Amino acid sequence: MRSPVIVALDVNSKPQLQALLAHLDPMRCRVKIGKELFTSLGPDAVDLCHAGGFEVFLDLKFHDIPNTCAGAVRAAAGLGVWMVNVHCSGGPQMLEAAREAIDASAHQPLLIGVTVLTSMQPVDLERMGIHHSLDEQVDRMAALAQAASLDGVVCSAREAARLRAMHGDKFCLVTPGIRPLWAESNDQARIVSPNDALNAGSTHLVIGRPITQAADPQAALARIFEEI
Ligand code: C5P
Repeated sequence: MRSPVIVALDVNSKPQLQALLAHLDPMRCRVKIGKELFTSLGPDAVDLCHAGGFEVFLDLKFHDIPNTCAGAVRAAAGLGVWMVNVHCSGGPQMLEAAREAIDASAHQPLLIGVTVLTSMQPVDLERMGIHHSLDEQVDRMAALAQAASLDGVVCSAREAARLRAMHGDKFCLVTPGIRPLWAESNDQARIVSPNDALNAGSTHLVIGRPITQAADPQAALARIFEEI
């Protein structure tokens, strides 16, 4: 089995990134580069990860007019990343443009849609003029992703079983908010253990601080594997 673990590299300098990569094993995890690291180091961050043998999830959550989003996704494909994502709320045309851009690229990363940010509460949706439930909004966004032939979605592990039933076996379910039984929850409110997330249908587990802030990140990863 390929490792389901994606380590969130939430650092913002080259020395920090190099130190973290030196403590991780590309056979046991992939890595995620988010907005902070990419804004700090740019494509060098991707190159450093690739040089270490890691596959990269470029988590920049693109959301723009279709033409611009397609260009961004094409550029990500050109960096050779393994996975890239866009906001489903960018709408059907944007999702289709992103899909077409990847299909026309020589290297084709997995294309994943963000449903609803897990930081959102029902009251936030209400204030944004969305008057149905959060679950329904997640389902609508996931349906848009599937209609545009995206490879899957980012969602809460608490939504994974439902989305797995709705979208079949091939749909990737990438889930953050994962905490091993022994780890602190930090600022994540709705946490799920690695095992429970996988049992619910998650295909990829995004885990940050329990690994990156451990005294020995490789040992933390090994403990997570034991738990799985
Ligand atoms: O340290 P921790 O495990 O909480 O890191 C989780 C990672 O997943 C962070 O990079 C965070 O930005 C990201 N993320 C999240 N919730 C989402 C989407 C992304 O925690 N809904």
